[in-house]
Amino acid sequence: MLKQIPSLALSLACCASISFGQRPPAPPQVSVVRAGRLLDVDTGRLLTNQIIVIRGGKIEALGDHVTLPPSATVIDLSKYTVLPGLIDCHTHLADLPFEEPLLVLQKSAAETAYAVIPNARVTLLAGFTTVRDVGVYRAFNDVALRDAIAQGNVIGPRMFVAGAYITISLGAGAMTGLAPDMQLPWDLHFGEANSPWEVRQKVRELAHRGADHIKILSTGAVLTHGSNPKSVEFTPEELRAAVDEAHNFGLRVAAHAHAAEGIKNAIRAGVASVEHATLIDDEGIALAKEHGTYLDMDIYDEECIQGEGKKNATPADFLEHDRGLGELHRQNFAKALRAGVKMSFSTDASVCPHNINARQLTYIIKYSMTPLQAIQSATINAADLLGKSDLLGNLHPGKYADLIAVSGNPLEDVRVLENVKFVMKEGKVYKQEQ
Ligand SMILES: [Zn+2]
Repeated sequence: MLKQIPSLALSLACCASISFGQRPPAPPQVSVVRAGRLLDVDTGRLLTNQIIVIRGGKIEALGDHVTLPPSATVIDLSKYTVLPGLIDCHTHLADLPFEEPLLVLQKSAAETAYAVIPNARVTLLAGFTTVRDVGVYRAFNDVALRDAIAQGNVIGPRMFVAGAYITISLGAGAMTGLAPDMQLPWDLHFGEANSPWEVRQKVRELAHRGADHIKILSTGAVLTHGSNPKSVEFTPEELRAAVDEAHNFGLRVAAHAHAAEGIKNAIRAGVASVEHATLIDDEGIALAKEHGTYLDMDIYDEECIQGEGKKNATPADFLEHDRGLGELHRQNFAKALRAGVKMSFSTDASVCPHNINARQLTYIIKYSMTPLQAIQSATINAADLLGKSDLLGNLHPGKYADLIAVSGNPLEDVRVLENVKFVMKEGKVYKQEQ
């Protein structure tokens, strides 16, 4: 073998110098978007007749006096309002949309992986160019979906994923409701941990296997058998272990929490966001403000659990867990907002269908947000929570060319965002209605 190395090196040097039959790499594609109106999400200003130059998936220049590069593809959005692609900070794209989680057991891992592909597609086409996906029953199905999208094999938003749920055994993120002698496959109970050291071990493995953030379940859940959203599950010590270990790998932690004590335990432990934050009390609101913790309050979901969009197959125990929480959640959202707590847009998509994320914008405005705050929660705030403000959240040179267009002015009628006419992700057009 040793003798062959020089000859191999020689042959490589030979071919590289001749470069016979090779083409030079194609120059990055250049396109230009003509925006009739453009919403500056930082200031709320509606700019007119803007030109956006896009090269290699990123915004190169933007303004009303930009020189058009020769041979650029021109996209005419002069009839529309352009704004940054929306970001949902709480989705579950890689799970099947069953009302009954146990039905997951009727599908193989491969069937599940293929069946969730449309979730990604419809989310992107609804104008959400990035999602923070926060947990999946089949561990790492989200990592695989994220990578398939990034490689161009599946159409979908840019995903940041959790890999699995970190949960106590039989807790909020566990597959529960089975007879005690039933054994789950490894990927359906991967994230169970029952001590600070077990939590650390899970974080280490999730980090190693490609998670972008950690999702931990601090309290019981509504949509889990044998769970109680008003119960604390992980202890403060376990939550601190999760945050500390995640930080060792440069990862942030999202904590699911309904009960007031579980919310405060998570904030004190240093999580980046509290998901749901349903029963947050005054002390919790003050703590969130003090720590700069984001709240991800999915207040539209009640419509899909108990309201008009309710699925008939929702198990009775889930409805019982949820009883009385919906309106309280919405009032607590308004209270936390008034107190100045940071909010990022989060729908828990999968509870409601994957293509109606934007419907929540109307609800958060109904419960005190201004239209601009609502749009900021789904753009610049979301990018900040992801730690990606350098690439996402607004339309500045150097950032990803993730943009959408709507008819009309979303600051006057936010519902236009439920009917997005144009979607571009990283410079590539995925939807363009005439
Ligand atoms: Zn969720």
